[in-house]
Amino acid sequence: MLTATKRLQAASDADLIFETLNAFWPNAKCELEHNNAFQLLLAVVLSAQTTDKAVNKALAPLFQSHPDFSAFDLVELGEKNFLKTIKSIGLAPTKAKNSLLLAKKLIAEHGGEVPLERAPLEELPGVGRKTANVVLNVLKGLPTMAVDTHVARVSVRMGLARPSENRLQIESDILQILPSKWGVKAHHLLIFHGRYHCTARNPRCTECPVRDFCRQIGIKKTT
Ligand code: SF4
Repeated sequence: MLTATKRLQAASDADLIFETLNAFWPNAKCELEHNNAFQLLLAVVLSAQTTDKAVNKALAPLFQSHPDFSAFDLVELGEKNFLKTIKSIGLAPTKAKNSLLLAKKLIAEHGGEVPLERAPLEELPGVGRKTANVVLNVLKGLPTMAVDTHVARVSVRMGLARPSENRLQIESDILQILPSKWGVKAHHLLIFHGRYHCTARNPRCTECPVRDFCRQIGIKKTT
């Protein structure tokens, strides 16, 4: 029997959690709207410290009027105009500047295409491990775990990862215990659960489908 303070150790416990989350969130997927690889990469970079919803809202007019919007189109649009497009999201000036650098590097070194390998992806301006994990997961179907604020919080609460400020540690803890069949979808399931149910301030434990398996680490019991 696992103690309430201990991290889950068995893959079978993790399997039960993801099986249940999958039934609860059958349509969990990347919520950043995009029509091609460049648009996804751009959206993920822009989503740092803001919500997917805000990024979708800012980019919608651009992607609707230019469904094939590419790195070349962004360079043609220019930093000033792009800043106007994304002005509603946080850190817009810095993000506009970095987005142009990103597009220019993609054109100079990859013919405008998004490389689907970790090393060249992480060499792009504004692209770190988390962004590369999202891109490789969504576009290449790789079993990566992009640890954002939701994944970090929920995985620690559930006991899938040890509490840590180090996102790489959390990623490694989750992947260590994650059954391979959930390798691709686990990231989306944790994000959906964190975004819509196990929220930072108001986790709804009593109505939670995984309450019987969840370690509920850091959750104050009110009943
Ligand atoms: S039981 Fe509570 S802490 Fe655990 S996943 Fe559900 S809402 Fe989050």
